[in-house]
Amino acid sequence: ARATIGLTGLATMGRNLARNIARHDHTIAVHNRTTRRTTDLVEEFGDEGDFVACESLADLVAAVERPRAIVVMVKAGEATDAVVDELVPLLDEGDIVVDAGNAHHRDTVRRQEKLEEHGLHFVGMGVSGGEEGALNGPSIMVGGSDHAYERLRPVVESIAAVVDDTPCCAHVGPGGAGHFVKMVHNGIEYADMQLIAESYDLLRSVLGLEPAAVADVFEEWNGGDLESFLIEMTADVLRHTDAETGKPFVDVVRDAAEQKGTGRWTVQDALDLGVPVTGIAEATFARSISGHTAQRSAARKVFATAPDGDRAEVDREVFVDQVRAALYASKVVAYAQGFDQIAAGAEEHEWDIDLGEVATIWRGGCIIRAQFLDRIREAYEQEPDLTTLLTTDYFADAVKDGVDAWREVVVAAVRSGVPVPTFSSSLAYFDALRRERLPAALIQALRDDFGAHTYERVDRDGTFHTQWAEPDRREVSVTD
Ligand code: NDP
Repeated sequence: ARATIGLTGLATMGRNLARNIARHDHTIAVHNRTTRRTTDLVEEFGDEGDFVACESLADLVAAVERPRAIVVMVKAGEATDAVVDELVPLLDEGDIVVDAGNAHHRDTVRRQEKLEEHGLHFVGMGVSGGEEGALNGPSIMVGGSDHAYERLRPVVESIAAVVDDTPCCAHVGPGGAGHFVKMVHNGIEYADMQLIAESYDLLRSVLGLEPAAVADVFEEWNGGDLESFLIEMTADVLRHTDAETGKPFVDVVRDAAEQKGTGRWTVQDALDLGVPVTGIAEATFARSISGHTAQRSAARKVFATAPDGDRAEVDREVFVDQVRAALYASKVVAYAQGFDQIAAGAEEHEWDIDLGEVATIWRGGCIIRAQFLDRIREAYEQEPDLTTLLTTDYFADAVKDGVDAWREVVVAAVRSGVPVPTFSSSLAYFDALRRERLPAALIQALRDDFGAHTYERVDRDGTFHTQWAEPDRREVSVTD
């Protein structure tokens, strides 16, 4: 056995990850169910490093030094189970199986428990950055035992993206912590992209700018607080022209957004945890609406003649800057909500996740990498037990400075008939948090009336019920 690590599953992600590992001077044993992919990899890129091509999983296992570390990078779900089941009898006590695919954290915990029975370690490793990141440096979120992380650390640290001399990888916690953090990362990515899409729609539909002109705006924004991979990419995509038709590329792409499920998982998980991730939820629903072709076509037929509202009369320069401020404030809310979810998940599963470290490893390699994450890292450095990111000095100032613009933008959107679910729900979340009294008091009263669900009072401790059906509507104290 001479390889430091083994990897099975050489499609787009696995192949690039294997090359990244080999380029960093680690001998890597590689395997794929269909052997062709293995031979292709070694033929094409064999000179990039030291690869050991293996035809079977047994060969792969035999090629790796003990305790072995075998990375599984196959299709998520049943394929992962099939490969893991095949690996288990081939391994020895103390060996480590790493699932680097996009697994649900509950599946990771299930697999961990199963492998523990065999004296094996199972690691759920979130890898972000897509195809390009896998090759040149992803952001890596590792979940599993300390023993497993120590074994993986030299490889993981050498292949991750690097920002300010710090590799964008961490042992975020035990159990499913790595895949959990990766899931919320993807949820935040949904919100981020939807906010960008709403900004684009506003600039185009309210101001009447052409895509190339919107690209100029995004490029300018990328020089400031909003600087990020996605904003930069937006400018690039909006400037791209379709070779066949000569039209702006964005106009020839069908407007139905797809999803592979991590956004949905994030929202489902947030509902279970009771964390309001309105930004991520609206972004996920917005993708669903876009794909509801039949409903959209039916509605267009019936409501085509309904007034669209007046296109809001706005000054171009002023409006562009208002949209920028609204985008930034909404982004602060979406990230604050995402980090709330990570904190709640960490508490629920007893994973002890360091939120500042999460912000640190998202600064490079991953899709949501942005200057903004440095501010989040600083906020958690100053106050590790932060209640919400929203109230830390830097973000509070950004939201205070931007709130008037934020309202103006939502009003202009509503008046013009442009849907901005993430902008407006983020504003509603902000207003709900800062409100002195919420109408939840009325909801509690109604619940007590129809279902005797009881309520608390503002003026004294205890739980109460009003006998609504009795003529005197007497209030009784309820002890549970
Ligand atoms: P795919 O998800 O397309 O999976 C293809 C790979 O899985 C092939 O190597 C295939 O082998 C193997 N496979 C499928 N079924 C089985 C099975 N029953 N037994 C053994 N092997 C099987 O590959 P990707 O590279 O796109 O993604 C890999 C993982 O990384 C996925 O979990 C994905 O969610 C995750 N991921 C993907 C990202 C992306 O940008 N694409 C980003 C981050 C994570 P064969 O060649 O024999 O068919």
